[in-house]
Amino acid sequence: MRFSKLYAPTTKDAPKDATLPSHKFLVRGGFVKQSGSGLYSFLPLGKIVLDKIRDIVKEELDDSGAQEIQMGVVTNAELWKQSGRYDVFGKELCRLRDRKNNEFVLGPTHEEVVVDIVRNIITSYKQLPLNLYQITTKFRDEARPRFGLLRGREFIMKDGYSFHDSIESLKDEFDLMEKTYRNVFTKLGLDFRVVDADSGAIGGSGSKEFMVLANNGEDDIVVCKKCKYAANIEAARRAKKTTTVEPPEADFAKFYTPTPVKDSIRHIAEFFKVDEFYTIKSVIKKAIYKDEEKIISFFVRGCDTLQETKALNACGALELVDASEDEVRLAGFNPGFCGPAGLGEELEFYIDSELKEEKNLICGANEENYHFIGVSMFNFKDSRYKDLVQVGASDYCLNCGEKLDVSKGIEVGHIFQLGQKYAKAMGAKFLDNNGKSQPFYMGCYGIGVSRLVAVMIEASHDEKGCIWNKQTAPYLLDIIVSNIKNEEQSNFANELYERLDKKRVLIDDRKERFGFKMGDFELLGFPYALVVGKGLKDGVVELIDRKTLQKQQIKKDEIFDVLQGLLS
Ligand code: ATP
Ligand code: MG
Repeated sequence: MRFSKLYAPTTKDAPKDATLPSHKFLVRGGFVKQSGSGLYSFLPLGKIVLDKIRDIVKEELDDSGAQEIQMGVVTNAELWKQSGRYDVFGKELCRLRDRKNNEFVLGPTHEEVVVDIVRNIITSYKQLPLNLYQITTKFRDEARPRFGLLRGREFIMKDGYSFHDSIESLKDEFDLMEKTYRNVFTKLGLDFRVVDADSGAIGGSGSKEFMVLANNGEDDIVVCKKCKYAANIEAARRAKKTTTVEPPEADFAKFYTPTPVKDSIRHIAEFFKVDEFYTIKSVIKKAIYKDEEKIISFFVRGCDTLQETKALNACGALELVDASEDEVRLAGFNPGFCGPAGLGEELEFYIDSELKEEKNLICGANEENYHFIGVSMFNFKDSRYKDLVQVGASDYCLNCGEKLDVSKGIEVGHIFQLGQKYAKAMGAKFLDNNGKSQPFYMGCYGIGVSRLVAVMIEASHDEKGCIWNKQTAPYLLDIIVSNIKNEEQSNFANELYERLDKKRVLIDDRKERFGFKMGDFELLGFPYALVVGKGLKDGVVELIDRKTLQKQQIKKDEIFDVLQGLLS
């Protein structure tokens, strides 16, 4: 490609809201152009990268036996009503009507459509298993679109869906997809971890995420360095927390404890001169359900933090938001003095599982200015106990006992055992080998294809710009003609370019200063540049490695072979 013809509008100015390198460099390098909040167009260089990533994904998926299809972005709302998600999906789901007032949604994911594709057509276990995937546009009206391609509203996802006649068959496919995804991310040259993920109501090891380790990641992942345990913080487990501090042994009693509502745990621990480990903290939230709202108290140790996703799973709400003091009081809780002991059975509350059967605790007495001491946790039904705590860097691994670590990651893929949820709701059934009608078992598998364009840069850049690896670079080599008016330089560079693979090589034949061209090379981040400059008259040209920015003088007669080697 000739740079003089390439539409790559590079600029010195980064978007005002850009905080991450990938966002800044992809816009400054003219890879993408923003057209609205969370909406991006891919310009030629960005489109080449996107296609390269798409090709790697497709190659691995096709190898695994999955078949590519393409579903529409605009989806009949009727299907979403059948699955029951139309009302509960929340504001991320963009709902629209046509001129005849029919309802549609812009597909944020395609379980409904794919179930409808096989429903009444796949009717026998003999036609299973089946894995269908697509690489297409999704729309999610994200509350906070940001970080450029990392969290857009419109984005490109590979989404796949598998159908099975048994859980065993689903698990086999799930394992195959894990392997396939590992291949994809390895081929892309990314440093990633496969982590246990939150799988909401399904639970267990039904869901895994693929996380690229990056300082700017939005996700926290808990990793054990010894046994390789890794989990999203939303799903992370730990060895039960203990302390060497002696418990404050006491008979059950009520104490007058005037304390400010805010920061009350610290005050209470100081007041009784006990470790916060022996106190119980109440976190009160408003839970939003489809048709109602409830005020719920979650109890964890004073030294622990409530994990919101775990809390959400515990109560099965759609969303948890802060509750006002009035709402809390009206619901029957006493803010600042709320404890599980003596709390009305009719109230909604959950207790962290690690508190089960613990003794010598201090908690609110559900009465203004009073706390209980000597509390034992024996009298609660099992259904009150849930895993609620956020695992942190001071905790230990449940598997091997080693200290855990927390790092930042960017989610690039997610695989999920759905079970029979969608097939049941939508009446998609097959006849098993006993002639019995059963809903399909399903899995779903996603990769953030457009997000990966940005992830490649988050994983590899310097202060000057992008550093693409060979697998994803739009071009591998930038031949920079130092002075385009110099005929010898221009002819030599052009001859070389003509002999090389034009799909992989860019020749910077623009009538610009050398410094400007070098600046663009550094910003755009192709793996190599070849400078054809003053040295040519002495028979040498200069090869630059973008990653190290090291320069190497090479004889002009040898350069073709050297470049052929680099491009292969
Ligand atoms: P996140 O937790 O980052 O919001 P998610 O769990 O909602 O993602 P999935 O439904 O699992 O996402 O979608 C599959 C993949 O699609 C994700 O692993 C991610 O790589 C990508 N993805 C999801 N949302 C976006 C977005 N708003 N912009 C770009 N890519 C996205
Ligand atoms: Mg996910």
